[in-house]
Amino acid sequence: MRRHRHAKIVATVGPASNTPEKLRELFLAGADVFRLNFSHGTHEDHAKVHAAIRALEKEVGRPIGILQDLQGPKIRIGTLVNGKEELVKGERVRFVLGKEPGTKQNIPLPHPEIFAAIMPGQDLLIDDGRVRVTVRGVTDNAIDAEVMVDGVISNRKGVNLPGTALDLSPLTEKDRADLAFGLSLGVDWVALSFVQRPSDVMEAKGLIGDRAGLVAKIEKPQALEKIDDIIRLSDAIMVARGDLGVEIPPEQVPGRQKELVRAARLAAKPVIVATQMLDSMVAAPTPTRAEASDVATAVYDGADAVMLSAESASGQYPVESVEMMSRIITSTERHSAYRPIVTALEPELDSTPSHAVAGAAADLADTIKAAAIFAFTASGNTVARIARNRPDVAVLAATPNADVARRLALVWGAHAIQTGDVGNYEEMVTRAKELAVTSDFAQSGQRIVIVAGIPFGQSGSTNNLRIAKI
Ligand code: PEP
Repeated sequence: MRRHRHAKIVATVGPASNTPEKLRELFLAGADVFRLNFSHGTHEDHAKVHAAIRALEKEVGRPIGILQDLQGPKIRIGTLVNGKEELVKGERVRFVLGKEPGTKQNIPLPHPEIFAAIMPGQDLLIDDGRVRVTVRGVTDNAIDAEVMVDGVISNRKGVNLPGTALDLSPLTEKDRADLAFGLSLGVDWVALSFVQRPSDVMEAKGLIGDRAGLVAKIEKPQALEKIDDIIRLSDAIMVARGDLGVEIPPEQVPGRQKELVRAARLAAKPVIVATQMLDSMVAAPTPTRAEASDVATAVYDGADAVMLSAESASGQYPVESVEMMSRIITSTERHSAYRPIVTALEPELDSTPSHAVAGAAADLADTIKAAAIFAFTASGNTVARIARNRPDVAVLAATPNADVARRLALVWGAHAIQTGDVGNYEEMVTRAKELAVTSDFAQSGQRIVIVAGIPFGQSGSTNNLRIAKI
């Protein structure tokens, strides 16, 4: 079973999709990676979904990626005596350090690190940016602020602090327990929320090791300032436009998306564009035209994957949302505008042999109109490097490692096949030709480009190109 598109689909699992039957429908409709959102649900819920996805893998005979998304240090106000308060433009309000229910003159904010870091003139946003206040004075346990954009605030609403770098670990106690649980289940990717600095990525990497790939969610302006280091230390990134669009002005999100996709592609690291892509499909069977355009834009940008959140997790049309996303990707990739745009962003070749061979394989496949590129890969890195060039054909990845095959579900154009090691060169060519045909990517008379590292089985030794005729 193969997909007829390059960009991948990440579908968030939730009450609308967490049964074995719905997961199968979502996979058949086009979901390549399932996202388990640890901001919701119990460990038992996630374990059931994980087991159902692994059973589905066996049934369909394809590796499926599982991404664990950690909640991270989401900042919230405490509770209010009346459950809510109306903040009026121009009035003064006060936030206090503590948990006691309060009024707008003592809104509880149980986060000492905010009081230590925030400065007069900086903004504090409540409820996804619906209400905005500007800080006028700060002490160790009180913040006086002026309401700039008015609205109603209610119990435990989320708080964003766009201009303030907080001395906060990206992993709360809950995240650490969730991470240990996810790794014990065997998730393929772990997404780290509210990354601010490269050391946040290193801290999480230290806990994850090589048991899963790490996705840094880019949703803080501080992360944008250090993006090259964050990408270098991560295995993938997510353009988390929900929080990013609150932390920076919405009009800056499209440009940032382009920068982030390009930077990740340059580094040969997968990049996911996320949030509100088909948001109206939470309650309607078809998207708005603007949403269709948004998915297409991410595909033109060269994103490895596009993501569904509430659409597949809690909406009324989870399967239709995946189908629609798949149709938009396919239609975009087949449009005559696609190739010139995606190749205009082609990164310059790195001088390392493995990058140069991967780039040459992509060029060669396009030049001779090969049916596919076939890579033997121990770590999956060769495939990511080939995909970096966004060739016009699928990249088949033969790997003995089931975990690598599953991680590749997120990578642009990659179709992983788990297969045993090959012993010699001729066996490699024969195996590649057979698998390209049985996987439905090539037919008699067509050519494939084979990429391998010789001697076999040594990661990082990509040094060999071979054209083979079926
Ligand atoms: C986002 O903010 O866009 C995002 C994906 O994060 P979450 O939905 O986990 O808050």
